[in-house]
Amino acid sequence: MKLDIVVLGAGPAGLGAGYRLAEQTGAKWLIFEAEGRVGGLSSSRIDAKGFTWDIGGHVIFSQNAFFNNVVERALGPDALTHTRESYIRTAGRFIPFPLQNNIHRLPPRAMRECFEGLIAIEQRGKSPQPAHFGDWIPWRLGDGISRHFMLPYNNKLWAYPIEKMGHYWINDRISVPKSSEIEKSLKIKVDNHSWGPNATFRFSRNGGTGSLFANIASRFSPHIALHHKAVRVDAKRKTVTFKNGKKVSYGSLITTAPLDHFVKKMIAAPEPDILHAASGLKHNSGFVVGIGINRFIKNSRCWIYFPDPAVPFYRVTYFSNYSPLNVPRPGAQTSFMCEISSGVTQKRNASTIVKETVVGLVKSGLMRPDDRRRIASAWMMKVPYLYPIPTLTRDASLAPIEMFLRQHNISSVGRFGGWRYEAGNMDHSFMAGHEAASALM
Ligand SMILES: Cc1cc2nc3c(=O)[nH]c(=O)nc-3n(C[C@H](O)[C@H](O)[C@H](O)COP(=O)(O)OP(=O)(O)OC[C@H]3O[C@@H](n4cnc5c(N)ncnc54)[C@H](O)[C@@H]3O)c2cc1C
Repeated sequence: MKLDIVVLGAGPAGLGAGYRLAEQTGAKWLIFEAEGRVGGLSSSRIDAKGFTWDIGGHVIFSQNAFFNNVVERALGPDALTHTRESYIRTAGRFIPFPLQNNIHRLPPRAMRECFEGLIAIEQRGKSPQPAHFGDWIPWRLGDGISRHFMLPYNNKLWAYPIEKMGHYWINDRISVPKSSEIEKSLKIKVDNHSWGPNATFRFSRNGGTGSLFANIASRFSPHIALHHKAVRVDAKRKTVTFKNGKKVSYGSLITTAPLDHFVKKMIAAPEPDILHAASGLKHNSGFVVGIGINRFIKNSRCWIYFPDPAVPFYRVTYFSNYSPLNVPRPGAQTSFMCEISSGVTQKRNASTIVKETVVGLVKSGLMRPDDRRRIASAWMMKVPYLYPIPTLTRDASLAPIEMFLRQHNISSVGRFGGWRYEAGNMDHSFMAGHEAASALM
């Protein structure tokens, strides 16, 4: 089969490309997806007990007007709007997120350490930024906040040595309040939940985050071939071969497959220098564990961060609070969606992770001990590619690969196609696919 444009992957990035290509008449194009569903990491599952799960806590928020418009049209009356209520579990308490804006909730000693740390960095004034993320955290936020949250949390989330990571990706992802603001909050003791771009977010009433992308895909479903896993790309002859034996030729290729895998395993006869560069791209893996219980917990919590190394998860979402329809018996059940990282500094075991998660939920007070008897569903999913790691050498690794791709008329986009964590959310990925397709038209 001869096609003008081939897209590999029907996650948000591939669907962003499809959204744009669907506007063009004349060109022959198809999206090939390895799995039997669209959405990639942004798809959802309904387990055997009827609970809906996402692949980790996904919330829809964006500064991009075009993407927001696509979301409104796709979700229609199913669009729910939530105000974020998230916490950090530390010092045996639930402190509203971000910690630095709510240190009045900490025990006195921890509160003093965090406050004094913030004052110390203000008094220090300007000083050159440290080279790596591990040093950058205390340099930017002070010793107290680093010790009580940022260092243990980031060690756990990335499961990768933070002294090998850069801090170039952070931009406005971290709140750094002035000590005068903190002083004021210590006096008035009012919680501040409202910081950050996802302070309000959208969610689908029906079918989890995946329903958004299933709705988008339905606009151009004849152009999507499921169960087509690309295994070989001959960049010179411009052909793609699939695991099922089919082969297509293309004029232009947009791929959203993980870039390290694409270079190392899919490209026919890659040059040694790009192979070497691909081995410099680092990522972690992980698990999502969903626990549904037959007890309705009435609160408005969205998610909780867990820096404590004694529990396996780094974040737990009260998923039944996102939509009542995420559980089979709304109002009678609660669902917890737990994210767990596994990587070079922290290995997790698939055979024990569900049990460890339940122990952790009880230990941290989210479940009562007697809730173990009320467990209605225990669901688990392995996630081989969880976070692309912004290492110190990431951009140096990307440069020769991107040059090779450009020379061969291939665009590699999306969370793991582009391998830029700072541009790895659903909106970024969708828009990157959209822009790659626009560039071809
Ligand atoms: C735990 C977690 C939480 C997140 N939370 C949020 C959030 O709150 N908000 C937000 O905006 N974003 C969030 N994200 C990011 C979001 O999941 C990604 O931005 C988005 O899914 C990336 O889209 P993509 O198309 O680039 O990649 P993917 O979603 O990974 O999709 C790639 C697709 O390509 C297919 N594919 C791969 N290889 C091949 C092949 N060889 N042949 C054919 N098909 C192939 C895959 O099967 C997959 O369907 C989160 C991600 C994670 C992991």
